[in-house]
Amino acid sequence: MSKAKSSESVKVVVRCRPMNDKEKASKFEAVVSVNVKLGQIMVRNPREAGALPKVFTFDSVYDSSSKQIDLYDETFRPLVDSVLLGFNGTIFAYGQTGTGKTYTMEGVRNDPEKRGVIPNSFEHIFTHISRSQNQQYLVRASYLEIYQEEIRDLLSKDQSHRLELRERPDTGVYVKDLFSYVTKSAQEIEGVMNLGNQNRSVGSTNMNEHSSRSHAIFVITVECSELGVDGENHIRVGKLNLVDLAGSERQTKTGAQGERLKEATKINLSLSALGNVISALVDGRCSHIPYRDSKLTRLLQDSLGGNARTVMVANIGPASYNMEETLTTLRYANRAK
Ligand code: ADP
Ligand code: MG
Repeated sequence: MSKAKSSESVKVVVRCRPMNDKEKASKFEAVVSVNVKLGQIMVRNPREAGALPKVFTFDSVYDSSSKQIDLYDETFRPLVDSVLLGFNGTIFAYGQTGTGKTYTMEGVRNDPEKRGVIPNSFEHIFTHISRSQNQQYLVRASYLEIYQEEIRDLLSKDQSHRLELRERPDTGVYVKDLFSYVTKSAQEIEGVMNLGNQNRSVGSTNMNEHSSRSHAIFVITVECSELGVDGENHIRVGKLNLVDLAGSERQTKTGAQGERLKEATKINLSLSALGNVISALVDGRCSHIPYRDSKLTRLLQDSLGGNARTVMVANIGPASYNMEETLTTLRYANRAK
């Protein structure tokens, strides 16, 4: 049974990627089926032949044939539109490593059909601006990473520097000294993203491993000023956070020790803190939202809840050997909706 939707501002969708070549070659069984019409994901346990499949229901679900542009138009575009109107919004990609978080957020460069939500939002924002007549826009981009509860500015020249979270009564929580570029076109902001991605791999011997343990947050601030009927200039500011989360796999299970165990604990901490914040927001009855429990949730405090909109995409894989992690992701997502 799905919960009654107590909050329209948080949307949870699930996307199942296709089998990859290796999985096909090894003839892994597909245990996930997707019913797009009913918004349902079914997971069958091949070891329990007669058992009923586990069924989960979400706002929307996307199967292995889903197109990037369909996700954008149905799920992300309304959120980006609200940012253009001066509200804050956050898009998260959640899931086990290898399930399509980066594919959903960035997609495949140089293939227009496989562009993810980040490049599609660039196009959307600058097309909107080019068509506007009576407004002046200022678009700024920042790019940061949280790794082991430490914040790194991916646009800074000095990648060894760590940034602090600060709080001011008027503006709330912010990252002190975070760099931002003013960008005037989709090409320019794409350049900022590329620069950050290059810096992201600096200092990491294995990029895949690094990205599975850190959260990458691309932030677009859209400031719009417009002459009101009162003859005064009115300014509204919307912020869009695009978050490629660390892999959700249980890292402590694999016998991690020392530094690795400490790291694993911190990754799990921020993902569970995020789950707690979202489920408290969705519940609506909680007067206390536990933003302070992690850097990630503190940083995004002004973009989660209130007038802000949130979309969480839970990514899963179809193959039988991922079944346990897939179920864990679906339970996490189910709690967040
Ligand atoms: P993650 O960021 O969660 O670790 P990736 O986005 O890197 O996972 O995806 C792993 C691989 O699967 C990549 O080669 C990616 O191109 C491919 N992939 C993921 N999702 C899809 C999809 N929906 N359709 C086609 N290929 C996908
Ligand atoms: Mg990734």
